[in-house]
Amino acid sequence: MKRLAIMGSTGSIGTQTLEIVRENKDLEVVALAAGKNIDLLEKQVREFRPKLVSLQEEKDCKELAVRLSDMDVTIVPGMEGLIQIAEMEESDILVTAIVGMIGIRPTIAAIKKKKDIALANKETLVTAGHIIMPLAAKMGVSILPVDSEHSAIFQSMQGNKKEQIHKLLITASGGPFRGKTREQLQNIQVEDALKHPNWSMGSKITIDSSTLVNKGLEVMEAKWLFDVELDQIQVVVHPQSIIHSMVEYVDGGIIAQLGTPDMKLPIQYALFYPDRRPMKGKRVDFYELGSITFEKPDMETFTGLKLALQAAEMGGSVPTVFNAANEKAVSLFLNRKIKYLEIPEVIEMCMEKHVRLDNPSVEQILEAEKETYDYINEKYGL
Ligand code: NDP
Repeated sequence: MKRLAIMGSTGSIGTQTLEIVRENKDLEVVALAAGKNIDLLEKQVREFRPKLVSLQEEKDCKELAVRLSDMDVTIVPGMEGLIQIAEMEESDILVTAIVGMIGIRPTIAAIKKKKDIALANKETLVTAGHIIMPLAAKMGVSILPVDSEHSAIFQSMQGNKKEQIHKLLITASGGPFRGKTREQLQNIQVEDALKHPNWSMGSKITIDSSTLVNKGLEVMEAKWLFDVELDQIQVVVHPQSIIHSMVEYVDGGIIAQLGTPDMKLPIQYALFYPDRRPMKGKRVDFYELGSITFEKPDMETFTGLKLALQAAEMGGSVPTVFNAANEKAVSLFLNRKIKYLEIPEVIEMCMEKHVRLDNPSVEQILEAEKETYDYINEKYGL
């Protein structure tokens, strides 16, 4: 029996993780954390019977406690709840399916308690990879990628030597606006940006995919996960999302992982690694598929990717500022407070203002996040 604690259980990755639990009787859920979706969390608690759960706000936790008064479950709000879930003795693996930098502290807490991490929450590695990866190595903890590109790279590395990697090829669908000009992106509305051509995901990452910021975050995530140099990572636009990423070795051989775009495969692979389990769902039919294509990313139109690569190159606290500015800008866009093309403008403005710190501590990372938010609030009169 493998015991899971899941942060972000009500989201896209969280609910798909629970679908896998339903299909595999040797998985048990011991803890669940959500933000605000009390109705879905209540249903999940009744179905999966975790011992410990958390919601962001205390008042929601109180309401959940009333609703679940017939059940034996402990409910702890906010960061304290996330940390208790991360550290909980009864769990073997923490699934980090929460969105944003809020995942940093609980992920570190779990690693310190020697819990393996099934990592979807890329923002954590982007901002604190220099703390998390060495800590995981010291504690003998596995960081198992859930992100489909990183899972593809991880799968393509099995049986090969890490030192023989020449480069990582991270594929990108190009998002819903591939091929468009800046002029055509002027009046993009929230509904347009939320329509991803291939993947069904949470709203923040869907917007990030449309701006190509997500690909930039993935480059930074890959750098930390696989301990490679930035110039060993190449982004390749592949609109059909069948090749989920590839590894080129020193002899020129390239190993890729292919499949239909379905996050359940990388989630399941992380949960059972190194085993593979049967999985229902659509399979790739090459006769039906016919052809697949590749392009260079358009970084002049999608400046978010260019800025991400600059932030990655600068390192230190700059990826945190990039990430925090993007989180805030996406939220402002989703709330219709800024225009689509302002998202990279906000990021650039924050990166220009920031004074870089080398090797930031968790406190400095969180401080840089706060400073970035404050700066945007001030600029936009929020
Ligand atoms: P969603 O927006 O669908 O879900 C986010 C989850 O986090 C929800 O359960 C939400 O709770 C919870 N949450 C948000 N804020 C808090 C908080 N303050 N405290 C506790 N819980 C909180 O996101 P996704 O599932 O799409 O993405 C999750 C992570 O996985 C992201 O880092 C994303 O980049 C990454 N990822 C996602 C992929 C996908 O296919 N979706 C693919 C690869 C990576 P609630 O809804 O109850 O408010």
